[in-house]
This record gives sequence, C-alpha cells and structure tokens, in this order.
Amino acid sequence: MSASAPITQDVMTIPRKLPEGPMNLVGLTRDAMRDALIAIGTPEKQAKMRVNQLWQWIYHWGVREFDQMTNLAKDYRAKLADHFVIAIPEVVTRQVSEDGTRKYLVRIAGGHEVEVVYIPEEDRGTLCISSQVGCTLTCTFCHTGTQKLVRNLTAAEIIGQVMMARDDLDEWPVPGAPKDETRLLSNIVLMGMGEPLYNFDNVRDAMKIAMDPEGISLSRRRITLSTSGVVPEIARTADEIGCLLAISFHATTDAVRDVLVPINKRWNIEELLKALAAYPNLSNSERITFEYVMLDGVNDSDEDANRLLEHIRRHKIPAKINLIPFNEWPGAPYKRSSNNRIRAFANIIYQAGYAAPIRKTRGEDIMAACGQLKSATERARKSRAQIEAEAGLRS
Ligand code: SAH
Ligand code: SF4
Repeated sequence: MSASAPITQDVMTIPRKLPEGPMNLVGLTRDAMRDALIAIGTPEKQAKMRVNQLWQWIYHWGVREFDQMTNLAKDYRAKLADHFVIAIPEVVTRQVSEDGTRKYLVRIAGGHEVEVVYIPEEDRGTLCISSQVGCTLTCTFCHTGTQKLVRNLTAAEIIGQVMMARDDLDEWPVPGAPKDETRLLSNIVLMGMGEPLYNFDNVRDAMKIAMDPEGISLSRRRITLSTSGVVPEIARTADEIGCLLAISFHATTDAVRDVLVPINKRWNIEELLKALAAYPNLSNSERITFEYVMLDGVNDSDEDANRLLEHIRRHKIPAKINLIPFNEWPGAPYKRSSNNRIRAFANIIYQAGYAAPIRKTRGEDIMAACGQLKSATERARKSRAQIEAEAGLRS
C-alpha cells in the first residue's frame, strides 16, 4: 500500500436514534422492530403480530402515517406516533433523461446527499442505489472515489431509496385492485455511490427487507451487489444476503489493477478469484458478473481479453463479462476506448463462449451513468494532477 493513496479512511456512522428525535421504524429488522414495540409497552405476546401488521403497512402498502393503519386500535396508533416515525430520504431533485432514466438526488440525515438512478428497460426496471456517501476507496477512474467526505448509509437510508422510487413510480399496490405482475421496479443493483461491502450490516439488513415476501418482495436473484473486491466479505454476502454478485474487475494484471482498483494491493487478483470460485450456488443462471471498464490504452488490448479469459477458466467461474464504456467526468485521467476496440475485445470473449454484453450508457445527459455519480453538495474534487499523481501516472 502506498503512503499517498490510503485504501481506507475513517467512516462516520450515525446512531439510529438521534438524541432529539423519535426512532425510525424503517430499516429495522423484524427482531429489532419487535424489541422497539415491547419497549413502548406492547405486550410480548402481541409483539410478533404487531410487527407483521406494521411490516405490511410499511413495506407492502407503502403507508407512512400510523393513522392510516386501520387494523390497529386508535389509541395504539397514537402511541406509535408518539414514539416512532416512518421516514425515508427526502428527494431534493429529480431529473429525467431523454432515454427515460431518472436520477434522483436525495437528502439524508446530516444534510448529506446521495444519488439514486432508475433505469427502465423493456423487460425490467432497475434501481441503482447507493450504500455510502462517497467512497473510501480511490479507484482512479471513478468519480465517486474522488469525493472526500464519506459516511455509511443506515439501513433505513438504503431501503428508503427503494421506497422513494416506488413513491415516484406510483407503484405501491392499491387495495382491491388486481395484482400487477409486471413491476416497474423489478431489480436492484448496489452500484451507486460507495462500496457496499464496507457497510455490510446495513446493506444486509436493507436487502433482507427488500426480499421479505411480506413486503417489497423482490427475489434474491433480482438483486446484484457490486464490489471492488473486499475478499473477506464475499463469503458473508452469500451466507447472509444470498444475492447475485458483480465484481469491479477492470484489469488483468496486478500491476494495472493496483492502480485502477487500489484495494487490489490488499487482496490481489488471485485471492479475489479464489473467493469468487467459492461463491455458492454458482451456475449458468447465477453467474458472477465481471465488470470491466474500457479505458483507452490502459486495459483494453487483445492480450487483456485473453488474460481475462484465462483467469476465469483457470478458476472455472461461471461468468458473464459486462464491458462498460468509460464514462468521462470533468478531470478524469482516462479516455474511453474506441467502439471498434470495445467490439474487438467483446468478440474475443464471446468467441470463447462467454456472454460479453457492452453496457449501454444510460442517462448520460443527466450525468447518471456509472461512475458519474457524485452529489452536488460535495463537489470538492481532487485536482486532475492529484489524481494522476496518486494513480502513478505522473511522478
Ligand atoms: N463500489 C462498488 C459499487 C459502485 S461502482 C464497486 O466498485 O463495484 C459501480 C460500477 O461502476 C463499478 O463496476 C465501477 O467500477 C463502475 N464505474 C465507476 N466509475 C466508472 C466510470 N467513470 N465509467 C464507467 N464505469 C464506472
Ligand atoms: Fe468506490 Fe466502487 Fe468507485 Fe471504487 S469504483 S471508488 S469502490 S464506488
């Protein structure tokens, strides 16, 4: 690890219960909600049933007022309102791209802001959510990694992004209406701001809520967590969340990956591949996605494509390779590979029998594309020279 580019820095965490405010029920696990209800005097025998009722109101029906919870006694509703809130992040701005992509800037406690992106496609609608304000990692091609201030999002702030999007899409069920099987928000990707595996517990609790059949009820196979390669947490992701995995791979030699994805200095390519090969349930329908950002002259040669294949084959990892044309941002020290180069790279992988889709850039006109996310309040950016120096591109 070089002294000039620390891999991690301290991350602020905030307590769930702010000294001046009531407790937020959003983001609590079922057990924690039960404890909270007992603490305000709910009889223990009733607590489980009350959790089920509240859970359905909050996560199935999308209700935010205790007063609307008509299967609870009036005085109990009043008591809940005295002690608790049902609070999600507040939308500050909402932009809609020419291609239908929606980008939201949402405000969380402490006045921080994070971005959330909704990407509609023919057969699905994907919500790209954030797990941290900024990121402690300093991948040299990523805009988020240049943001200095970092804080972990709470579970409420993570699942709250999903609830906010369902509000905006007007997608909560309507009592009595026939069940609509085609969901506008059908998939979640943890590919927004932050490294989800550096905020493991909150990400896990939030995704458990997203998967809970009594509420938002998304299948674990419709949730993809993207990590830069926090190796010790990969097995935990399988055990405790069970979602699909995407890896920010981006380079085929340690020398290049050390620069692009500096966490590689702690867990190198070989260690990462071993952890991926051990991920349970891998099959052709549950492949690991290798994300590979195409940087002109840095990682996009035919040799790179062949080395990438060799890595995947050596470890027998069921994989699909998602090629991401680099999205430029002001001051970025790289250029996007040409379309011909990207196609040639994709073709080598495809000919070897692996899917190699080239990710369509979405929402570029509103800076909503991968790696362009960075909140407006925190634009204090490192200079281009500083980034290049840290990347080892300049002396
Ligand atoms: N921290 C996690 C998840 C957030 S990044 C991770 O690194 O995996 C989501 C994806 O966007 C990652 O694959 C990341 O490498 C990619 N990305 C970051 N900056 C980008 C850029 N400027 N252009 C294209 N993709 C980028
Ligand atoms: Fe953080 Fe991921 Fe960006 Fe790297 S690519 S700086 S891990 S958000």
